[in-house]
Amino acid sequence: METKPNTDNVYEEILNLFVGKRGDCNEWMEKPFTDLSKVMATNKISFVAVPKERVETHHIELIGKTKGVYPCLHTCEKEITLHRLQEAMKQVPLVDELDNHKAYKCKECNGFGQVEWQYGNYTDEDDCPKCNGDGEFKTDRKPTGKKVYDPSKVIIIGDSKFNVLELELLKKTIELLKQDKFSLVNQTQPKQASLFKIEDVEILMMPFLPDGNVDLVAATIKI
Ligand SMILES: [Zn+2]
Repeated sequence: METKPNTDNVYEEILNLFVGKRGDCNEWMEKPFTDLSKVMATNKISFVAVPKERVETHHIELIGKTKGVYPCLHTCEKEITLHRLQEAMKQVPLVDELDNHKAYKCKECNGFGQVEWQYGNYTDEDDCPKCNGDGEFKTDRKPTGKKVYDPSKVIIIGDSKFNVLELELLKKTIELLKQDKFSLVNQTQPKQASLFKIEDVEILMMPFLPDGNVDLVAATIKI
């Protein structure tokens, strides 16, 4: 098989790792976007920026979306090997991956969630008693047969806790760029975002802030 050098595709692939796929993400986060000299993508927790010249595809220009957040200063330069991140990730327990809910429309209220009731001449609307106002029923999520990282776990890097699913994106980025290390270049407050750098790619990541539950920490990377 032909081995591919670092092509533009790699950068597109990285951008697509970070686009917002969760329900709580805004619509503009579903695709990469450009702002001046960078192409960026975000899922609200993590944010990636790659130099525009690395990407051939045209992405929609959204000026000012990252204002006050990015670019951000490099306040330190702490190298961490990919191996250390991989070893930390190995400490994270695996759980069954679950499929998405399947939804069925409620027949009682025809999906509206509200039903009209009548008492004498008086009518009003109320939450449908069958679906409790949801308008639909959801099936339980079932295991897909695949194992994934326990999404409740965190890994400490320096002074901040990060969700393992976000760190998986960082790990994939380092691997896609065929690098063996990355740098922490900004971490001023444990509860504020940290900036990681891999070659010319930067990743800004919000810490995960569970309420003092130490059991959630799967591993620690001291720097
Ligand atoms: Zn209903």
